[in-house]
Amino acid sequence: MKAVLFEKFQEAPKVVNVADPAPEAHGVVLKVEATGVCRSDWHGWMGHDSDIDLPHIPGHELAGVVEAVGKDVKNWKVGDRVTVPFICGCGSCSECHAGHQQVCLHQEQPGFTHWGSFAEYVPIHQADLNVVALPEAMDFATAASLGCRFATSFRAVIDQGKVSAGQWVAVHGCGGVGLSAVMIASAAGANVIGVDLDPEKLALAKELGAVAAIDGKGDVVEAIKEITKGGAHVSLDALGHPATMTNSILCLRPRGKHIQVGLMLGDHAAPAVPMPKIVGQEIELLGSHGMQAHRYGAMLDMVESGKLNPARLVGDKISIDAAPEALMNMDKFQSVGATVITSF
Ligand SMILES: [Zn+2]
Ligand SMILES: [Zn+2]
Repeated sequence: MKAVLFEKFQEAPKVVNVADPAPEAHGVVLKVEATGVCRSDWHGWMGHDSDIDLPHIPGHELAGVVEAVGKDVKNWKVGDRVTVPFICGCGSCSECHAGHQQVCLHQEQPGFTHWGSFAEYVPIHQADLNVVALPEAMDFATAASLGCRFATSFRAVIDQGKVSAGQWVAVHGCGGVGLSAVMIASAAGANVIGVDLDPEKLALAKELGAVAAIDGKGDVVEAIKEITKGGAHVSLDALGHPATMTNSILCLRPRGKHIQVGLMLGDHAAPAVPMPKIVGQEIELLGSHGMQAHRYGAMLDMVESGKLNPARLVGDKISIDAAPEALMNMDKFQSVGATVITSF
């Protein structure tokens, strides 16, 4: 099969031919129809992820068609249109038994713990637990964009943030994750404030439901406190940077919730956290890490009913031959909308 492979971290990946994967007894192989290019892939390529063994094929935001089924799989057949969370549970640890596959103790991540979806085919483990059927009307590029950014935002806003109507929600960083969070929190009835350095992204945040947009170059904390008359109830760092994390914590009202969604790796792995406010105002700090397959139904129902429209966040559609270049440029400020590989 054709695939994007790198032999060394930080060395340009190449489009090569490798052997087709075969399904494990409990797994499936998917024919990839669309796969998003994500900043997490860039972190992996840089060498920030200890799960990656070389040589490696990245790619974790995927949708496709079941191509081959392992002998123990009960729920899927060849030809099914599906997607997967980027974190796949093992099915046998205590977290999986409790339904928290997104923090599985032995998790598999396509494009990290094994070869991913920048390829014609990708193997998925524990298919009955991890694979999700797509609604008929959803195209593959939109479905691919759900698996990481949109689903992660859904869990961050709905399951971790427990955002409710009338709350003030601040979203720091309006890239793919942040714009998804703006859309989801607005659909949940919250008043959302988007923060970014890029006026184009702020304009899109307002189109997607934000009631206010703040230029990240100014005094973000003061601006949010003024608009909200005292601070946000829930605030997300959707970028993953010490500056956005700090603003997100400091813009909260007493007993507010900070949700860290953006990854903080490499030089940013141990940021200074404003602890006096967290103690003195009983601020909650929560991480959010993907979303387990059994919660996709709630999100997909909101997409089907038209309350959420992830297709708005799909950007450039590229071929696999353009993927190495796109991957290496992911640390630059991203274009509005997710880049998705749709031809192989
Ligand atoms: Zn598990
Ligand atoms: Zn991703």
